[in-house]
Amino acid sequence: MAKTIFEKHSEGRKGYTLPTNDVEISLNRCIPEKFQRKEEVKLPEVSELDVMRHFLELSQMNHCIEKGFYPLGSCTMKYNPKINETLVRNDGFNNLHPLQDEDTVQGALEILYELQKDLAEISGFSNVTLQPVAGAHGEFTGLKIMKAYHDHKGNSHKKKIILPDSAHGTNPASVTLVGYEMVEIKSNEKGLVGIEDLKAHVNDETAGFMLTNPNTLGLFESQVEEIAEIIHSVDGLMYMDGANFNAIMGLVKPGENGFDIMHFNLHKTFATPHGGGGPGAGPIGVREDLIKFLPAPLIGKKDDKYFLDYTHEKTSFGKVHSFFGNFAVNIKAYIYLKMLGPKGLRRVAENAVINANYIQKKLENYYDIPFKDSFCMHEFVASGSWQKEKHGIKTLDIAKRILDKGYHAPTIYFPLIVHEAMMIEPTETESKETLDEFIDAMIEIAKECEEHPELLKNAPLNTPVKRVDDTLAVRQLNVKFEW
Ligand SMILES: *Cc1c(COP(=O)(O)O)cnc(C)c1O
Repeated sequence: MAKTIFEKHSEGRKGYTLPTNDVEISLNRCIPEKFQRKEEVKLPEVSELDVMRHFLELSQMNHCIEKGFYPLGSCTMKYNPKINETLVRNDGFNNLHPLQDEDTVQGALEILYELQKDLAEISGFSNVTLQPVAGAHGEFTGLKIMKAYHDHKGNSHKKKIILPDSAHGTNPASVTLVGYEMVEIKSNEKGLVGIEDLKAHVNDETAGFMLTNPNTLGLFESQVEEIAEIIHSVDGLMYMDGANFNAIMGLVKPGENGFDIMHFNLHKTFATPHGGGGPGAGPIGVREDLIKFLPAPLIGKKDDKYFLDYTHEKTSFGKVHSFFGNFAVNIKAYIYLKMLGPKGLRRVAENAVINANYIQKKLENYYDIPFKDSFCMHEFVASGSWQKEKHGIKTLDIAKRILDKGYHAPTIYFPLIVHEAMMIEPTETESKETLDEFIDAMIEIAKECEEHPELLKNAPLNTPVKRVDDTLAVRQLNVKFEW
């Protein structure tokens, strides 16, 4: 373990040069005496070089996409072009104020307008709000719109939202937050929505259905139109969780495929680096008759001028964020969209799918892959169940060993319906060489399970932090550093 900056302290060393102070400061005039520190604060005394090395060392202890492959399923950890970061730091964007007069921010409004339009175009919806700032926030907004739709129609008996058991955890959380009840249905043996179970649960109380497509097993839900017909027959609405849109953009338009509302995760599909909690953006698209419920304002255009469009403010269910969402994330998505164009976006999806299928195929003799009879989309779910049964090695041990090989681990133990799940998403930005190296590492690990199981049980061995005692950490949580 690397030393902390406190442990690098050496009395009298310093990293700055200041002229001698020739101004007398009367502390008592600024801070009442009772609030004044009685003892000198104990700060580490280190040289400038020590500080530089310390922070560089810390940055290298973390894994990141710039350092290595990051197959964290469901998260779409692709490479995000650095040009986005350079452009978004432009003074013209940074020095804007959200309360500025429309006439003085025409360029910014044009970008937001174009982004609304482009997202609507590629998803097949009539308009898009850019206000929500995460996927989960988009779900919340979408479900509020569903609620506004039912309230507007006097559908007070609509209380339930149906979800498949493969849904991401944010889906049931959003359902509850909006005040609906969740009804969970079972996936069928192919890993798709079980139509019979769905029919058994749909009734007059059904407000809507939430579906991720491709779903969290990495499988394309091919029965969307049939499902939409069932849900629409009781005046329910179809919500698409678009977190996996990376796999189908340019190929499928959810808005023309039976869905009424959808969120995008700009930080997954449209090139904003994420991890560490944000910032993100979760715009939502809706069909024509639902536009009136969207948060206001939308960005409008009239006679070549862009404006904040409040025309539907009275029917809107309200705002979900200040101003226009995460402006910088929206700009990055705009740059990415314009750089790739329609053909480029389609190639992103195609390559993401090819990469995932390539790994799935190469690993099928080494790991149990529950749904390998279907092609996967941009990700697939493998299981460590063979290793567990034969050698007592858990998926957690495999994931830790993957760290030793220089990779980020896949998402594990999700989705919940696959035992010992390992969810692998390579993304489109990885080369065949990188995929081959990862495949070799995974095969090597499968062999280690047989020949050197102790390596796995003690892994990781090569990382700055070794295997931690999860149970102890929970029981005796200690987050304080004492010097
Ligand atoms: C990531 C994800 C979400 C939630 O998105 P956030 O931006 O993390 O709030 C929802 N559903 C699925 C399938 C996801 O992968």
